[in-house]
Amino acid sequence: MVKVIYPGTFDPVTYGHIDIIKRAVELFEEVIVTVAKNPSKTCLFTVEERVEMLRESLKGFERVKIDWFDGLVVEHARRSGAVGIIRGLRAVSDFEYEFQMALMNRKLADDITTILLMPHARYTYLNSTIVRNLAQFHGNVSEFVPPIVNEKLKEKFKTK
Ligand code: ADP
Repeated sequence: MVKVIYPGTFDPVTYGHIDIIKRAVELFEEVIVTVAKNPSKTCLFTVEERVEMLRESLKGFERVKIDWFDGLVVEHARRSGAVGIIRGLRAVSDFEYEFQMALMNRKLADDITTILLMPHARYTYLNSTIVRNLAQFHGNVSEFVPPIVNEKLKEKFKTK
């Protein structure tokens, strides 16, 4: 079975991430969406919450698995039996970072290939930070995130 992993922060998952996942399942037999536990960023949601939102959002996808990791992406890919790492490329601004990461990961593990996928143009401006910022000020994010994420954001930013 040809497996790949799709690592990221997913704080929270958006329709942009889901677009990439849909494209990846067309190409590979199993896609493991894997939440980074210890990114350099401080997160709004805990790993458990981020995993739960992904589980709920990707319920109907039989060949998609969800898990989390702590440490090096390439080691997690190896442990999972994945041959590649999926990443999303929205714009030229993503390119430099993704390119650096891909080359560093190749240096660490030459047998694990990074695959960059482009989302539909409608998602190219979408990222989790924008969604969090909008939600914080009670903006409507329902067209950018699955219903479960919309609910969780409302809970987080409920006026006390
Ligand atoms: P990370 O902190 O690892 O960049 P993210 O959750 O922000 O975690 O993103 C994970 C991956 O998904 C990255 O490769 C990112 O470029 C990609 N991605 C994020 N948002 C979108 C989007 N709207 N369309 C396509 N790819 C996206």
